[in-house]
Amino acid sequence: MIGFNKPYLTGQELEYIQDAHNRSQLSGDGYYTKLCSDWLKKKTGTDRAFLTHSCTAAIEMTAILADIQPGDEVIMPSYTFVSSANPFVLRGGVPVFVDIREDTLNINENLISQAITSKTKAIVVVHYAGVSCEMDAIIDIAKRNKILVIEDAAQGIYSEYKSRQVGSIGDLGCYSFHETKNVISGEGGALLVNNAALSDRAAIIREKGTNREQFLSRKVDKYSWVDIGSSYLPGEIIAAFLWAQLQNAEDITLQRKELWKSYDQFFSQLHQRQLLDTPVIPADCKGNGHMYFIILNNSFERNKFIEKMKKAGVDCVFHYVPLHASTAGIKYGRVSGSMAVTDRISKQLVRLPLWLGMDMNKIQESILSVFSND
Ligand SMILES: *Cc1c(COP(=O)(O)O)cnc(C)c1O
Repeated sequence: MIGFNKPYLTGQELEYIQDAHNRSQLSGDGYYTKLCSDWLKKKTGTDRAFLTHSCTAAIEMTAILADIQPGDEVIMPSYTFVSSANPFVLRGGVPVFVDIREDTLNINENLISQAITSKTKAIVVVHYAGVSCEMDAIIDIAKRNKILVIEDAAQGIYSEYKSRQVGSIGDLGCYSFHETKNVISGEGGALLVNNAALSDRAAIIREKGTNREQFLSRKVDKYSWVDIGSSYLPGEIIAAFLWAQLQNAEDITLQRKELWKSYDQFFSQLHQRQLLDTPVIPADCKGNGHMYFIILNNSFERNKFIEKMKKAGVDCVFHYVPLHASTAGIKYGRVSGSMAVTDRISKQLVRLPLWLGMDMNKIQESILSVFSND
């Protein structure tokens, strides 16, 4: 059986973990955390990069930084993972769901303005499959309405929009290093603070609401509780593992993009025969090979495809249950306008395995057999 995902190891992870142990600091913000955050800062050009214990945690930090109060609204797509919405609900905020584009499956920027009210505090964009949202239009809307842009770039490391790194474009950007993403540490994430006005407060929120960072840099002679916050930092073992991955991030991305391209060439004929749709990457965006998916003609065909692939020995999956139709989404959020594209895509999309070391020939043979004995 070819599994849907298998975490890739560079080979240096255990050595760095051993070294972290030798350095006698296993709590956060030690040697390896600094290497990783410096790398992220350099790669993205952000003001400050903070490692977190997950992308979800980074988004929780953005909800505090955006000063979400009960009843405040946050605009976002419904076709996304729960962590795009949950952090705002934890602060009493109301997710306002907007439909997605037919091509990139990202939030439809043309539907955002009509969702804005006097309570809107932020727009959360999700770069689905690592392909960027239409950021120029979105930032323009945010500026005109004086609201923040938060990038859920969980899937977006190494992806580009007009030559800029995804995650470094809005006020705040969040990466995930969960084992299903391109660059991993088991669980893990990062917050990029691109709007420098928010950087000092981000450091405090991440350190349990204390000014410990100012103390360590000798700006204050004692550290104490100054704001709300939590413990959002990972320990050094996670950071050491992540450092091995970041050092190889470019190579990992190139290899994933090769697999992505192989799928895309393979599916182009089936696409021409109108059996399915394939992903679209706009001309001014560069993908990162995070995910390959196909969109079948209806839910019956989608479910049959997944079942037949399983019988042929390949594990394929679908997602997402749209947030607006989920139990908590109905309770805590509301929709703005039609959700027709979201509803359709959630019934017709299939994700294919995409991991370094998988047997692409066997997968493609299995797909051919599924389509030929129809
Ligand atoms: C994976 C993912 C997250 C959550 O990341 P964690 O690091 O597991 O918290 C959030 N949003 C999107 C779009 C994701 O794909």
